[in-house]
Amino acid sequence: MKILVGIKRVIDFSVRVQVKKDGSGVNTDGVKLSINPFDEIALEEALRIRERGTQTEIVAVSIGPADCQQQLRTALAMGADRAILVETGEVLQPLMVARVFHELVKREDADLVILGKQAIDDDFNQTGQMLAALWDRPQATFASKVELKDKTLTVTREVDAGLEVIAVDLPAVITTDLRLNTPRFVKMPDIMKARNKPLQTLKLEELGIAAAPKLEAKHYASPPQRMGGKKVADVPALIAALKERGVL
Ligand code: AMP
Repeated sequence: MKILVGIKRVIDFSVRVQVKKDGSGVNTDGVKLSINPFDEIALEEALRIRERGTQTEIVAVSIGPADCQQQLRTALAMGADRAILVETGEVLQPLMVARVFHELVKREDADLVILGKQAIDDDFNQTGQMLAALWDRPQATFASKVELKDKTLTVTREVDAGLEVIAVDLPAVITTDLRLNTPRFVKMPDIMKARNKPLQTLKLEELGIAAAPKLEAKHYASPPQRMGGKKVADVPALIAALKERGVL
């Protein structure tokens, strides 16, 4: 069984993102960049599938500039067997990323792709669904529990109404929700071992995929400052305060 796992490099979740003065984007100079948290969960789940005894090869995949190698090395230290960097300096949008994964799935003959439910930079929440459509295979999005038996995955999904349990046949796409697992910490000896694990670099053009962004970001701005809360003495004062703000 072969599992591809998406490893996107994003601004670390603990960083307060600053918009550039000219509104052309967000500042990444000197900013801590990490693996998208949902992708760490995706990798952890692949590792657990392997640890439960299924003979599995885990391939970490990142699409982006050469520096993404750092995050791929971390994925290798966590336990991925090998990594693929699809190098490009282009602006990445979900359809293009899904096309790249589709091409790799065919080349690698993958049985399962585990992606995050969303990347915390753009919050698109689209890549997994688009990949399933391109690949014409089942998808189990927002997974909070995954069980594999033979060639069938039983996936508990977090949906608006609560939890839903579905069964999907492999090959398939899973996207991870926060409660699926808690990713392991990387240990020093594993970081050393990861240096010798294979990391293949491909150019986007080698996959026959042309970057053709469908969206253009014209301007970035910080969200408006939040107004502080206000305590009121009783219900009439609450109604008066809401009327004052034009809510009622
Ligand atoms: P999105 O649809 O952009 O919110 O991303 C959903 C998931 O797709 C992410 O959590 C990753 O697993 C995967 N993904 C998106 N962009 C990339 C990328 N550039 N490299 C690797 N995986 C990616």
